[in-house]
Amino acid sequence: MTQSIIRRRSLLGAGAALAATTLAGCAGMSSSPSIGRVVVVGGGYGGATAARYLKLWGGNVEVTLVERNADFVSCPISNLVLGGFKQMSDITRSYDGLKAVGVKVVRGEARAIDVAGKKLRLADGSDLPYDRLVLSPGIDFMTEQIGGLAAALDSGRVLHSWKAGPQTVELRKQIVDMRDGGVFALFIPKAPYRCPPGPYERACMVAAYLKTAKPKSKVLVLDGNAEITSKKGLFEKAFKDHYSGIIEYRPNAELKELSGNVAKLEFEDVRADVLNVIPPQRAGDLARSAGLLNMNNRWVGVDWLTMESTAAPNVHVLGDATFPAPAMPKSGHMANQQAKVAAAAIIQLLKGEAVNTTPVVMNTCYSFVTARDAMHVASVHQYDAKDKTFKAVPGSGGVSVAANQIEGRYALGWADNIWADTLAL
Ligand SMILES: Cc1cc2nc3c(=O)[nH]c(=O)nc-3n(C[C@H](O)[C@H](O)[C@H](O)COP(=O)(O)OP(=O)(O)OC[C@H]3O[C@@H](n4cnc5c(N)ncnc54)[C@H](O)[C@@H]3O)c2cc1C
Repeated sequence: MTQSIIRRRSLLGAGAALAATTLAGCAGMSSSPSIGRVVVVGGGYGGATAARYLKLWGGNVEVTLVERNADFVSCPISNLVLGGFKQMSDITRSYDGLKAVGVKVVRGEARAIDVAGKKLRLADGSDLPYDRLVLSPGIDFMTEQIGGLAAALDSGRVLHSWKAGPQTVELRKQIVDMRDGGVFALFIPKAPYRCPPGPYERACMVAAYLKTAKPKSKVLVLDGNAEITSKKGLFEKAFKDHYSGIIEYRPNAELKELSGNVAKLEFEDVRADVLNVIPPQRAGDLARSAGLLNMNNRWVGVDWLTMESTAAPNVHVLGDATFPAPAMPKSGHMANQQAKVAAAAIIQLLKGEAVNTTPVVMNTCYSFVTARDAMHVASVHQYDAKDKTFKAVPGSGGVSVAANQIEGRYALGWADNIWADTLAL
């Protein structure tokens, strides 16, 4: 029974399957003494998965998950909400599954880490002691890099909608309220940023809505990069085949300053009815205030065998906050995979056992280009002991030949599966 649960729950990753094999005997041992306390910050893709798998594989480990929001709201599929093809309820899930498997879910704001004292301080002043701390705080924004951006975001006039939730609802409203003949301008920061194909999917979803609802309107894609950063040929084809005359794509168009509804680029000013600015990003605020940003003062360096921070002992960091291994995307799928590597390693460390030295992780990222047609990019990454990092396995993965409706169904199935896997649903 235990084996079959683990096998079914591990379909999302080869690395997880490896870990499951070594840890299969651990599940269901909750009557034995606790092997330790793990506190997890962030109930998104990385943190929720880590909490869930620590219980699944560790059994008798005490796991507390600290999350500021009441529910899990998924960024994947949120672009379909902007297009009006899905509702917020379709991308919102509860933490009840995690509670049912024994994770203590605390709604609160994590404020500070006492690394030496092994305590997490919450905003209400309480402390949570830990043996191992897991941080998956996602990203926060480097608003200081664009003049006027912080004030524009604070006023609610300009939205990023790069963290799904209230901003998704507000941006959808701005799109619906836009006049026919209006301009929706989407600003993409220089890579690296969360979800490389996400902005181009967003352009397609907004254009798909405008094409029928407000056909005189335009989507202006102002990309800080020299070219489309993911699935380039497929997005170019989608822009041409479906949104000719609606989407206008401009590379090397880095946003410098915002003033009213005018966006200043290096050589021109752009006026738009809706300004959707995806700001430059770094690891989440908690990682910064804890002094963990040891890579370009922006991301957290980790030991890839354990996901332990190279800046702070006993603190494991996952997901978008990490400085990525070569060719490793900042994706929900990858955060979920890294969480499994960390969960397995933490249980082994708590037990004084050797950690797995051959982890393998994978990524699949779907993008919708119409309400029904999607395409994917996939990759497999294996730990390289010589260079102490994950490397893409030659010949693994790949990109769709073309977007189509079958992949659209797979994309929705992927989302249902990863939510179930992440949240123990
Ligand atoms: C529009 C869009 C589309 C995307 N599409 C895809 C896709 O199709 N496939 C894919 O794999 N990825 C996709 N992604 C990327 C994916 O959403 C991220 O890579 C993923 O969410 C990263 O997981 P994480 O755990 O690092 O961060 P998150 O999932 O953002 O989780 C961080 C959590 O930590 C909480 N938190 C942060 N700080 C604190 C604190 N101090 N105290 C308490 N709680 C805190 C936050 O509230 C949040 O719940 C998309 C992203 C966007 C924006």
